[in-house]
Amino acid sequence: MSLIIIDPGHGGADPGAVANGLLEKDLNLGISLKLKELLTGSGIPVRLTRESDQDLSLEARCDTANNWPADLFLSVHCNGSPDPLAQGLEIFCHPGSAPGTRLARAIHQELLQLGRRDRGIKTAEFYVLKHTRRPAVLAECGFITNPGEADWLKSHLAEMAGALMRGIKKGLSAEPLN
Ligand SMILES: [Zn+2]
Repeated sequence: MSLIIIDPGHGGADPGAVANGLLEKDLNLGISLKLKELLTGSGIPVRLTRESDQDLSLEARCDTANNWPADLFLSVHCNGSPDPLAQGLEIFCHPGSAPGTRLARAIHQELLQLGRRDRGIKTAEFYVLKHTRRPAVLAECGFITNPGEADWLKSHLAEMAGALMRGIKKGLSAEPLN
């Protein structure tokens, strides 16, 4: 049986990106709670690193992933930029992690179905990617600093969660990716 760790980025005193009346931490939690509901509903157990608006260190997030028999770790974020025109989704994995790369490709393929601008799959030494001993991906779901994308995001949390769920299922399956 698979166990999925979902990590809603930021929280508590750390709002993440702030723009257009939105706090990134709230969107991350909204998407993550919906994703938990969807995965649980299809029989896949889920743990969230946080289920409310609380402070949580990067170390504590990784501890959750490493202390449970998890099959994968997904950190959910929304993006911010000084450029209000910046938009689109991007998926990060740790360089050199083959399972992380496969998971990133699977999630990327499903998120593309939402029709948003594609900024691609990228590698990064982000703390939560580096210190989780699990296939790990960090999804940036869109830019809240872009007024149009901020509007889209806040009204499409369920669609985003649905695409993430399909990506997770695809990543867990043995099916070859395109
Ligand atoms: Zn973030």
